[in-house]
Amino acid sequence: MQKHLTISLLILLCGLAGVKALQPAPLLRFEFTEPHMGTTFRIVLYAADEATAKKAVKAAFARVAELNTIMSDYQPTSELMKLCEKAGGPPVAVSVDLFEILRKSEEIARETDGAFDISISPVVRLWRKARRSREMPKAEEIKKALALVDYRKIKLDAKGRTVQLLLMGMLLDVGGIAKGYAADAALAVLRQHGITRALVAAGGDIAVGDPPPDAAGWKVGIAPLKNPGAEPTHYLSLKNAGVSTAGDAEQFVEIAGNRYSHIIDPKTGYGLVGRRSVTVIAPNATTSDGFDTPICVIGIERGLKLIESHEELAALLVFETDKGVETVQSKRFAKYLWK
Ligand code: ADP
Ligand code: MG
Repeated sequence: MQKHLTISLLILLCGLAGVKALQPAPLLRFEFTEPHMGTTFRIVLYAADEATAKKAVKAAFARVAELNTIMSDYQPTSELMKLCEKAGGPPVAVSVDLFEILRKSEEIARETDGAFDISISPVVRLWRKARRSREMPKAEEIKKALALVDYRKIKLDAKGRTVQLLLMGMLLDVGGIAKGYAADAALAVLRQHGITRALVAAGGDIAVGDPPPDAAGWKVGIAPLKNPGAEPTHYLSLKNAGVSTAGDAEQFVEIAGNRYSHIIDPKTGYGLVGRRSVTVIAPNATTSDGFDTPICVIGIERGLKLIESHEELAALLVFETDKGVETVQSKRFAKYLWK
């Protein structure tokens, strides 16, 4: 309704001024979805016409598909899996994208003292199997897998753009950060096509550019801890930012009354137990996605400290404890709330 009003007002003004041809065309809203990376990617954007929107979105989704062929740990032919085949050997030259995601992962691993660790893959695979069989991984299997987990054994050399995996059998999984990276990359492609007012949602990892024409920001809801389909508990207003939510709402396995998350504590090798949801707001979705996973691991106190130490970050942490559901906001979170 408001959009129509704005459009007719604009046309009226153009008519009055007699300079209709010089006025930019009013922007129209378009929405597209496609399955990628095991989730649904959604793009919402404003463009002058459908042809422009479709062309840009096609290129953006193609970029996401390209990133999947680089980062997938389900495809044995992905660049990441080929790199892992060379674990224990000499340094390997990698693509710009793979290097960048490994560099960012290392930074977050260091900052979280290994709570984020992409070498967690051997353990993740045991828990994936457990999700299918509903049987606990054996303690000795976990111990064996954990022997291969250590982000400090991933040696990056920026000059030669090479990666060396120091332990034979090491396996990497960038599932904790790749969707955020892909959302950022898709947004960048839209921008290259002249579309700046856009949102790219890779499941729960969202990258937003300039706001819609009639708003100060993109309205993004945060679902309640125990019912992802229910009315959001908070609404955010975001522009040129990333926002991600991690937790056990959708991916978990229940064995003998315990609910184990798909997020693993690299110190123990066990899936997190205890309901939790962490939402991080950052300048981009690579960063928000990278941080939401380890903050689930390190918990409220350390997580909040980490977030507060970065001026560009904000977070909402919801954890179920013995005392009930505890909800904590970082200092800068309130300024992103939708008003
Ligand atoms: P999703 O949106 O799929 O829930 P998350 O950002 O929550 O993604 O990351 C979860 C994924 O990260 C897991 O599926 C696994 O591949 C990987 N992962 C699990 N635990 C860790 C960890 N401690 N460090 C890094 N990656 C992890
Ligand atoms: Mg994440």
